[in-house]
Amino acid sequence: MKILIAVKRVADYNVKVRAKSDNTGPDLANVKMAINPFCEIAVEEAVRMKENGIATEIIAVSIGPQAAQEQVRTALALGADRGILVETDVDLEPLAIAKCFKAICDKENPDMVLLGKQAIDGDNNQTGQMIGALTGWAQATFASEITVDDGNITVIREVDAGLQTVKLKLPAIVTVDLRLNEPRYASLPNIMKAKKKTIDKTTPEELGVDTAPRVILLKAEPPAERQAGVKVEDVAELIEKLKNEAKVIS
Ligand code: AMP
Repeated sequence: MKILIAVKRVADYNVKVRAKSDNTGPDLANVKMAINPFCEIAVEEAVRMKENGIATEIIAVSIGPQAAQEQVRTALALGADRGILVETDVDLEPLAIAKCFKAICDKENPDMVLLGKQAIDGDNNQTGQMIGALTGWAQATFASEITVDDGNITVIREVDAGLQTVKLKLPAIVTVDLRLNEPRYASLPNIMKAKKKTIDKTTPEELGVDTAPRVILLKAEPPAERQAGVKVEDVAELIEKLKNEAKVIS
């Protein structure tokens, strides 16, 4: 089974990203970048499938600037076999990303595309669903368990009301949720080995993808700063403050 995994380059989840002074977007200058955490879970799942003899080839795909090669390289160190970098300096919207994936699916004919349920920068939660629509393949979102058997996969999905189990025919698109697995760290020998693995480079234009934006970002504002809290000595003082300062009780 051939698996495509999506690895998006985003600001590391530990970094507190600030908005640019003119509020036109996040200020990513000198910010530590990493693989989107949900994509790490997708990589881990594909690697486990290879270790269990289910997957035969794992291809890591990133769409982004030249520097996104680092995230593809990390996926290779974690166990992907080869990489594809679709190079663009434009921050593409989910539809354009999905079209790039569709073009790669047409060339590579994977049995499964594994993506994160969302990218932590744009929080769009759209790309996997759009690839599903463009390819016409079966699709399962928010996977917390995936089992493969003979041309089908069974996916347990995390939904608001609990867990939902669905069966899909391959090829399929699956977006992964937090509880699917715990990603491993790349070992030093595997980081060294990954340097020899191939990363093919292409562009949205070469893939024939129309990247014209449909949505314009008008403004990006940071959340309002929280006021510092106050420590009270006892319940009596709390009640006194709620009554006379906050005036929320009488
Ligand atoms: P989104 O719809 O933007 O929230 O992204 C959902 C998932 O699509 C992410 O978790 C990634 O797995 C994948 N994805 C989105 N953008 C990219 C990109 N530029 N390169 C690779 N994968 C991406």
